[in-house]
Formats: sequence, structure tokens, C-alpha cells
Amino acid sequence: MARIPRDDAIHGLASQAGATPPRRPAHCFCCAPPGAVAAARDSGKGKNLLQTMPDAQRLALPLAEFAPRSMLDVKATRVAYPAFPVIDVHTHLSWMSETRGGVSVGEAMTYFADPAELLPLMDRKGIRTLVNLTGGVGRGLEETIARFDRAAPGRFLTMTEPSFGLFGEADYPQRQADAIAHARRAGACGLKLLKTLGLYLREGIDEGALVGIDDRRFDPMWEACAAHGLPVFIHSADPLAFFQPTDRHNERYEELARHPDWSFYGEGFPSHAELIAARDRVIARHPRTTFVLMHVGNQAETLDAVSACLDRHPNVHADISARIGELGRQPRQARRFFERHQDRLLFGTDAVPPPYGEEVPQQLLGDALYEIYYRFLETEDEYFDYAPAATPPQGRWSIYGLGLPHAILRKIYHDNAARLLGMDP
Ligand SMILES: [Zn+2]
Repeated sequence: MARIPRDDAIHGLASQAGATPPRRPAHCFCCAPPGAVAAARDSGKGKNLLQTMPDAQRLALPLAEFAPRSMLDVKATRVAYPAFPVIDVHTHLSWMSETRGGVSVGEAMTYFADPAELLPLMDRKGIRTLVNLTGGVGRGLEETIARFDRAAPGRFLTMTEPSFGLFGEADYPQRQADAIAHARRAGACGLKLLKTLGLYLREGIDEGALVGIDDRRFDPMWEACAAHGLPVFIHSADPLAFFQPTDRHNERYEELARHPDWSFYGEGFPSHAELIAARDRVIARHPRTTFVLMHVGNQAETLDAVSACLDRHPNVHADISARIGELGRQPRQARRFFERHQDRLLFGTDAVPPPYGEEVPQQLLGDALYEIYYRFLETEDEYFDYAPAATPPQGRWSIYGLGLPHAILRKIYHDNAARLLGMDP
């Protein structure tokens, strides 16, 4: 019930911007003085006595300036420290420097932070290990591992990425498999795929037709990961709303307005369902390879579908990174999901250090981000922000804590990841 005034306000603004004329929401008669109610009911002249003059100036407030403060007096628990040591399986501490049409190429790396800057935060927030997914390839990967894993053993782990810069060369499939073997020798703990595969990589890297996630030329890569014991952390598709028109019905309208390049709606892109189906064909074809679906498989809106995928494929796990905004607005369904798949869900945030992370507040590495995740998992607090930002960055809603029991928290925070990544218990 508490959301009604806020929603009404948004509808008022939306209708102002759209084609339909502004309309007051229907009034509940109990809010009106009894005399007026009786008069309205008995009036034969069609005049609604409850009608008031709308404030046109207030209704014209741009959505971007609308920043309501919840009036709910509800419990607000600060969880400064997690119940168990945390392994954050999804961070970005480095990035491949060179890109072609959204595809990372080459071996040069850009580093977002140094261990010395990160370790105090990790100690403060009870984080045992950060897994840096975008560790690069070749010499770049070796440099990343020296810079993090070797500098602070046990506190940082690094994953490698595909060598898409070689895609199109006749011997790519074998060279890619060899690159996985090299990454293993260099000390990488897994292979990370960005949404590049399915949405950016083309036959000519940045030109020509999009390359399918289930393209056979990647089969040696998936098999090499199985052979070398490297789990595949795969980001396929994106939130459902990114495949819908960016119009007034889109629940992530403001986010897409701020980042228009995140929209994959329309001609030239596969649908969300096609991308997920291609991903699932890869999973089925490589049962010896372990796949971890990033961002709850980019299907946090349809948890039953993720559940079905986990049930069907024992080689699948999922992380919760950057999706507590989805999970936390369906807390009862989400809690059942965590209970059912408690052995295969991993704690991750998708954290990016400042200043880079400031562009994406739901991923901004810092105390505030971790406290929100801990509060979401550990408490039954109601109606709180899912990101450290003045306006909810992914969509205008708030979340509810899951209040998971300790036995599940321990697995999500730590044990599942430790097992998957071959870490000491
Ligand atoms: Zn990420």
C-alpha cells in the first residue's frame, strides 16, 4: 500500500509526457467528506464534486528531477560486516585497453586499482578474496596476475578472457584452446565471457554478421576449460528491458536514456530468448565444462526459467551480481530460489573501483555497496535502496531483505565459490 502515492505520482508525470491527457487517479470515496460523497452520488448533473484543479506546473516536473523520500518508518539495519567471510566472484579491477566495436582485443591492460588501495576495504568488509574477471590474455594476463594474485596471495584471483582479436584467423579454434592452456599455466582461475559474445563479436570482429554464442568454432575453447579445470563465467544477453523499446512502458527507461548503447532492441540484434537458447545449447553440448551464469543468467526477472536451467544442467551455477534490484523486489520468490539452489549460487557484486565505477552506481566498489548486499541477504528489512545512489539507477523501485539463515549464507558468501575455484576451505 505504501507504494501507491509514489506510483500515482509517476503515472501523473508519465501521462503528462505522453499522448494521453493528464488524468487524476480515481479517488476513493472514503477520502472525501461525507457530504461531498453523497452529493456526488446523488448528483444528476454529471458534475463530480471530488474533482479538483490539477497543478499543471507540478505535473510537469521532469522524471529525472523526481526524487521521492519514502515516508515509511521501517527497520533499517546496518550490516557493516558479513556473517561469514566473503568471496566476491565478480569484480572488474582491470580491463583490456584496446577495443574494436565493443570487442576487447590485444594484450595491453588498464588497471582500475592496486591491491594496496583495495585491501583496507576488503578487511573492513570481511572480504577474503576478490575475483577479478577481466584479467586479459597473454602477457597482459601474466601482468595482471603478478600485480594482484602474486602481490597479495589468497586475496585476489584472476580470470582470463577469450582472444577475440584472433577471431577470423583460420586456426582460431586451436589457438584459442592453446590460450586457455597458457592462462592455466599463468595462474588464471577461470574464463570470463562478457556479453561481447552474442551482441558485439562479428565475423570481421567489428563488422559483418554477429557470431552466435553456440558457434562451433568455440567448441575447443569450452572443452579446454573443462580439461584444465577452469570454470566459465558467462554473461549472455542482458536484462529483459534492454530488448524492449525505450519508451514510457520500459521499466528501465531512465537507465537506457542515460546509456542508450545498452539497448539491444530491434533489427540487427537477436532477441533475449534467442541468446539464452544459444547459451543453453552450449551448456548442453559441453557437460564436462562448468558454466557460471553471470547476473542470475540475465533472467532474474523470470526466476523459474533460471531454476529450470539449473535443474536441467548439473554443470551450471549462477552469481547474483548487479541483480539484487531484481531479486529484492520479489523477495518471497527469490528466497525460495536461494533455498532451492543454495549449493549453486555465488556472491558477486560486479564491483568496479572509482572513478570508473561512478558511471554505474549499482557497481561502485566501496563500503556502501557491500553493506547493501549484506543487508539484502542477511536481514528482513523492508523497502530500501539497492544501490548507493540518490536515484535507483536500474529502475525506480526499492528492495526487501531475504533474511537467509546462516547455513545458506555461508554457502553463498563463501563455500560454493571456494569449492568451484579450488580454494582452501
Ligand atoms: Zn561484470
